[in-house]
Parts: sequence; structure tokens; C-alpha cells
Amino acid sequence: MKTRLMNPALWAVGLAVVTFAGPTAGDEINVYSYRQPPLVEPLFARFTEDTGIDVNVTFLNKGMIERLQAEGDRSPADLILTVDISRLNGIVEAGVTQAVESAVLNESIPSEFRDPDNHWFGLTARARIVYASKDRVADGEVTTYEDLASDNWKGRICIRTGTHPYNLALTSALIAHDGEDAARAWLEGIKSNLARKPQGNDRAQVKAIHAGECDISIGNTYYMGLMLKNEEQVAWANSVRIVFPTFESGGTHVNLSGMAMTAAAPNRENAVKLMEFLASDEGQGIYAETNHEYPLSPGIPLSQLVESWGSFEADSLDLIDVAKLRPMALRLVEEVDFDG
Ligand code: FE
Repeated sequence: MKTRLMNPALWAVGLAVVTFAGPTAGDEINVYSYRQPPLVEPLFARFTEDTGIDVNVTFLNKGMIERLQAEGDRSPADLILTVDISRLNGIVEAGVTQAVESAVLNESIPSEFRDPDNHWFGLTARARIVYASKDRVADGEVTTYEDLASDNWKGRICIRTGTHPYNLALTSALIAHDGEDAARAWLEGIKSNLARKPQGNDRAQVKAIHAGECDISIGNTYYMGLMLKNEEQVAWANSVRIVFPTFESGGTHVNLSGMAMTAAAPNRENAVKLMEFLASDEGQGIYAETNHEYPLSPGIPLSQLVESWGSFEADSLDLIDVAKLRPMALRLVEEVDFDG
């Protein structure tokens, strides 16, 4: 029994991967994943080792809802894995998932991190924080998300596109705290502080800090772990430190990765087993140790690296409320021509 990873090379260049001839039943499970191969492979390998159930993974980076809708009842997919509360919410709202009643899941995942109707379940949290140049940013200089729009940061900020789900979730949370007008002004302020047009992924911004193009960037916490493991990127990682900003009236912005069972799920029983494994102490431990994410199940130790960043207070906004503000966040990003 082995875990089969399907066409990660195609995934990497952004093509939808067609890998299934049709529905299958037996000792296997089919996963559609927006999460990258290195992040999920260790988990599936362990699950297969423990259970003898093969995990077939199709890696996607867009169009999951459209694909599930087109496949309908004949979809081979059992389980979807994704990041971002809006994506989890969107997939459920599109009607392509089903509820899962599981005492194990309800015990492992605190209620604020799962759908009240049991369609999606959070697996890990990640904070969206500031990467700050060790040389050019003073201790205590980074304070709130709101302050990133102040003149102190003129020409000093690098960030990925404003329409990326991670940034839309942050903007949504800012709207929830400060209101629409303040959020528009905030986006304009950050735009006027950028050292260059939004481009690249979260790690590309840290590379730019290392190159001296900017002094701070906004990124997710676990990328520090990924950069430290990468020969080319370790120097980028070592040029910055992680700082946890807060909202003026709240804590540090966090987002989720999570899972949902598809409506079609030909291997429903196996899918429940995999879901329960991912939420188990073993699964959550791998997320913490290998991916440097924050496990949602209480009592799972953080990795040493994550521990070393120090503690922070997570913002207390209801993430489902944040997800509902996504359309407004997108409209504001477009109104101020954030990426232009
Ligand atoms: Fe990511």
C-alpha cells in the first residue's frame, strides 16, 4: 500500500489535473487538494501505513468548485483539503459537500473552528504576521495592522497581490474591526507605502527583504519553517524575524486550513477515517511538527521552531463573519487599484 501523489509537477504550473477515470470503491480514498504536496504527503503516508487505505490525491490550484459541480454524482472525490475560511465556506455554499456527524471530530476540533452544520472542519491555524528585517526594523517598531498604513512605512513594505485569499481574509477582518471606510483608507495607505507593486508569493517578499528592496512584508507564519528547510531560502529566512501585529481593537489575524467531505463521496467510510486521522493527536502532531502550523486540537505541542516565535493573542472575530465580508474586501481592493 502506498500513497500516490498525482502529477505534482502539473500542479506546480497551475493546471487542473485529470487523474480519475470514474468513481471507485474499495480500500482507497480520493482527495482533491488545494494544499501543496510537501504539506500533505507526510500525513497521507502515515495514514496509509496505519490503515492500509490508499490515498489518491489530485492537486489543484483553482477551479475546485467548478470541477465538483461538473462531476456531480459521478465525482470520484471523497474529501477536499483547502486553506482559507472563505474557500471552506464557498465550497459548502456551492452545495458540493455533505455533513459529517463524528463524535471524534467534534471532540478534537473546537466548535469555533468547524461549520455549525458539520460540513467543514478546521485542521490548523496560521497567523498572518509581519516579517521584519533584522537590520532595518527596530524592536517594537511594528505594532498594529492599522499602523502599516502610516508614513513610518513609506517605501518599506512588500506584499503579494491584494486579491489573494490570504490578503482578502486580512482585509475582511480589518473591515469587521474598523469599518468599510477605514478599510479603504488602510488599503490606500499600504499601497502608498509599497516598495514595489504586489507580486509573487509570501516567500518572495522575504526574499525581497533579504535583497534590501523592502524592510517588512506580510506573510503566513509557516513559511518561515519552509524557508529554513530550503537551501536557497534559508538566507532569506535568517534576514528577518517574525512579529505578531494586532488589530487596534483585537488580536493577531489567523486563518484556517481545513477539510470537507464531498457530496458524492464514493468511499464515505474511508473518508471519515481519514478526517478523523487528520484531527487525531497523530495527525495534528504531524501538522505541528512537519508543517509548523498551529494545530487546532487542544493539547498538541507546537514545534520547537513555532514555540521560538513566542506567543500571541489570536483575534477573536468569528471567522465565518470574516468570510462573509470577502466580497466587500475584494471590491475595496479593486476600488483602490491595490495591485496597479
Ligand atoms: Fe500558504
